[in-house]
Amino acid sequence: MTQDTFELCLKAIAQTDVPTVDITGGAPELNPHFRWFVEEVRALGRHVIDRCNLTILLVPSQADLADFLATHHVEIVASLPSFTATQTDAQRGEGVMDASVEALRLLNARGYGQPDSPLILNLVYNPNGAYLPASQESLEVRFKREMQRRYGVVFNNLFTITNIPIGRFLEFLVDTGNLQGYMKRLISAFNPAAARHVMCRNMLSIGWDGTMFDCDFNQMLDIQCNHGAPNHIRDFDITRLRHRRIVTGPHCYGCTAGAGSSCGGATA
Ligand code: SF4
Repeated sequence: MTQDTFELCLKAIAQTDVPTVDITGGAPELNPHFRWFVEEVRALGRHVIDRCNLTILLVPSQADLADFLATHHVEIVASLPSFTATQTDAQRGEGVMDASVEALRLLNARGYGQPDSPLILNLVYNPNGAYLPASQESLEVRFKREMQRRYGVVFNNLFTITNIPIGRFLEFLVDTGNLQGYMKRLISAFNPAAARHVMCRNMLSIGWDGTMFDCDFNQMLDIQCNHGAPNHIRDFDITRLRHRRIVTGPHCYGCTAGAGSSCGGATA
C-alpha cells in the first residue's frame, strides 16, 4: 500500500466512528509506512490490531518492532496451527514452531498476554483438514495449558476459524475429493445466530490498492463491494456503505456454520 492510499484510509477513518483498524498482509510491518500509519490511527483514538506472523519479530531489521507495538498498545493476533512442533512445522515449515515460541516469549517479556496487562496477544487456530473446529472455549483451555506447560508462554484468547472453501483450501478439497462432503457439512451446520454476526456486517476490507471488499474472504476471491456501493477507498461514503447489500456466495456457508467464524474467531 502506498502512502497516498494510506492517507485515503486515514481520511475515511477520521470521517467515521470506526473503533478498530485491523492491519494484515504477509508481513504488514515491512511496509515502509506501517509505523507512521499506526501512529496516525492511534492519534485518532482508534484501536489497532496487527495480524503478525510472529517470525517477523526475529528479523534483525525489526529488532525494535515489539517495543514499537507495545508503546502504541497495538493488539497482536497471530496464527498458530498447533501447540506441537510436529503439526505446526508440517503446516508452516521446518523451524516455525521454535521461531514462533521465541517471538511469543519476546512479546510476553514486554507484557503482552500477561494477566492485568493492557497489551493483548491473541492466537488463531484453524483445522488442518476438511472438518469444523472444535469448540473455541475448550480449545482455548487446552492451548493455554499446553503453551504454558511446554514453553512458558501466555496469551489472552484463542480464536478458532472455520476453513473457508476458497484458495488453497479449495484446491485441497478438490484434489482430495472432499469438496462436496465439506460443503454439505457446512450447509447442514447452518446457524442463523452465526449468520447474524458475520464480519461483513460491521467491517470493510481495504486492499493494498484501495479496492474495497465486504470481507477478507471476498478480497481473496477479488469480489469487490458492489450492488451500487463504492468499491474504492477514494469514493468512501459511509452512508452508502453502511446500507450496502453484501456480495455473497457459496463460500459464505463457512461463516454461518456451527459457532460461526470471523477474523475474531467463533461468533455465536
Ligand atoms: S464470506 Fe460471506 S458471510 Fe462471510 S464475511 Fe464474507 S461476505 Fe460475509
